[in-house]
Amino acid sequence: MDAALRSIHVHAYRIPTETSESDGTLEWSATTMVLCEVEAGGKTGLGWTYCDVSAALLIEQTLAPLLEGRDGMAIGARWDNMIRATRNLGRPGIVSCAVSAVDNALHDLRGKLLNAPLADLLGRRRDSVPVYGSGGFTSYDDRQLAEQAGGWAAEGLPAVKIKIGRDPADDPRRMRVAKEAMGDGCALFIDANGALSRKQATAMAEEAATLGATWFEEPVSSDDLEGLRLIRDAGPPGVEITAGEYGYDEVYFRRMCEGGAVDVLQADATRAAGITGFMEAAATAQAFGLPLSSHTAPALHLHACCAAPNLRHMEWFFDHVRVERMFFDGAPEPHAGHIAPDLSRPGLGLDFRRQDAERYRVWPKEGG
Ligand SMILES: [Mg+2]
Repeated sequence: MDAALRSIHVHAYRIPTETSESDGTLEWSATTMVLCEVEAGGKTGLGWTYCDVSAALLIEQTLAPLLEGRDGMAIGARWDNMIRATRNLGRPGIVSCAVSAVDNALHDLRGKLLNAPLADLLGRRRDSVPVYGSGGFTSYDDRQLAEQAGGWAAEGLPAVKIKIGRDPADDPRRMRVAKEAMGDGCALFIDANGALSRKQATAMAEEAATLGATWFEEPVSSDDLEGLRLIRDAGPPGVEITAGEYGYDEVYFRRMCEGGAVDVLQADATRAAGITGFMEAAATAQAFGLPLSSHTAPALHLHACCAAPNLRHMEWFFDHVRVERMFFDGAPEPHAGHIAPDLSRPGLGLDFRRQDAERYRVWPKEGG
């Protein structure tokens, strides 16, 4: 098989959100996708990250020249090439996001070269994965919050996550609005994005438990491992403490698990140096006896989540679901609260609708 990497191209797209959005600690009005395409043996693999457009420059000028001409099937070796070459740039953040886009594209390419779905190549454990709805932005009014949460519950999603922490005094009321719209068959998840102090978070966990919440994500900063552990140990037993979305490398996940900081580890293949890094995070969670849940980007995570050990569920994140539906033929849709890969399609099972994406392109700035 000719698997020499002939070309590595990168494009970035900035897609405005439907309305301006916010959580406990951030406001935004657009989503930027950095999409990498790698070509070998007449096949093109695609992978992406949600990141700043600067990741595109890093891929184009630093990662692509490093990999061109090398064996695209040796994904581990290519991953090592990229990690070594970026040592002095600092691993977390943009570097790991850029590596993620390339690594994800290499995984998709491998599936296409072998004409096999990626789930099978990673060692498929399950044919479908539950997804929980994720949105409930603090920028929503009560009508928007109830419509979204109630809509996902009506579609059969087993849980819905809302953002809290912007106005902690008002959060119990917002939780009630969402829970009433969802009804009894759907669990309430909350995510403070690190907005709360330890004392506030402890009180919020108690309040959330009375409303039937079962998941409390980043009650305090995910860098405060001791704080997470204290809230986990002191809090109501029905409310799981979760974090991991800022895991960019394997040591981060090990420290979070070693610290006893979480009941469920989260990981994101658009940040953690790709599907390669995501599967390592899954193995770490397994070694510590913890379930894993994927963070954002459901179309990208689906095959890896069919193979990951101890997988609890996937995040059906509103912004990324919207972009992935716009950009990819073959993007998954939930049925009875689950998404499933089409195993008749190779790789990630996605076809990029370039024409539809073109009007959002921000990189390259000219041509394309
Ligand atoms: Mg979160």
